[in-house]
Amino acid sequence: MNGGYALELRSVRKHFPLRGLMARGRFVHAMDDIGFSLGAGESLALVGESGSGKTTTASVIARLYEHDSGSVVVDGEEIAAFRSRAEALRYRKKVQLIFQDPFGSLNPTHTIRQILERPILIHGLAKGKDELEARLREILEQVGLSPAGEYLRRFPHELSGGQRQRVNIARGFAVEPEIILADEPTSMLDVSIRMGVMNMMLDLKERRGVSYLYITHDLAGARYMCSRIAVMYAGMIMEIGPTDEVIQGAVHPYVRLLKAASPSPESGLARTRVAAKGEIPSLIDPPSGCRFHPRCPYATGGCSAAVPALRDIGGGHLVRCVLA
Ligand code: SF4
Repeated sequence: MNGGYALELRSVRKHFPLRGLMARGRFVHAMDDIGFSLGAGESLALVGESGSGKTTTASVIARLYEHDSGSVVVDGEEIAAFRSRAEALRYRKKVQLIFQDPFGSLNPTHTIRQILERPILIHGLAKGKDELEARLREILEQVGLSPAGEYLRRFPHELSGGQRQRVNIARGFAVEPEIILADEPTSMLDVSIRMGVMNMMLDLKERRGVSYLYITHDLAGARYMCSRIAVMYAGMIMEIGPTDEVIQGAVHPYVRLLKAASPSPESGLARTRVAAKGEIPSLIDPPSGCRFHPRCPYATGGCSAAVPALRDIGGGHLVRCVLA
């Protein structure tokens, strides 16, 4: 373990080159100076609007993309150093990505049994038929699909959206991972069933002692699921810290704007009025200095000159703003 952390990112950058004649030398700045840690058994929400870089961050950690610079360390090992298939396989067992789309992420021609037993067999986690059967039934029961035998013989199209997402989550947990990267796991589900899936995920986390990196655009959902929150904007982290401090004591003008726009009185998020102009910027040629400066009502001349550092204002609460 790396200083007690299951996962640590240090100043990670990921830029994607634009394709096409006119695009030469231009990049999508998806991640810049991204740094955070995730303790064993801890849950951290990565919150941001579409285009903030949060899904790229999860994809880099899942090794779907290689980062350009900085380091991504899991259990003390830099993931870019893995070269062999065996190392990649060992990593895939340790870190599982749960996708947003419960409809597109399950093979429609496979039964739930086939979908769940494949990763268990690939990672050699069951000795013999009986142990495999016991594992399949246990994980299905734990995601709330009971009686398990009923579900194992069905195909994905015979399940509801919520049930499919439960299978998706079961597949992630089937290999006994240490870290779950959950990319908007409830955003495509009906509002009425989201809470059930979120509660099931919290229950599984307790039972299995995993760490969650929970990616969402929903501040209220992040608050419900996680003990810490990191808010991303235009490829950078703007504020990170314990959930209640970031939400109740939001310092960064963008986080205050996000909080003001949060549409849920039942979540306990009080609305505050924050004036901001414009839209989230393109990650191609993002604004200089503070990336929020074109929209920030408090911007001064210096805000566009240099990128503010992520400054610790106490208690593990960090803010990227000259006002902090
Ligand atoms: Fe606004 Fe300046 Fe703070 Fe950026 S650094 S959020 S522009 S006050």
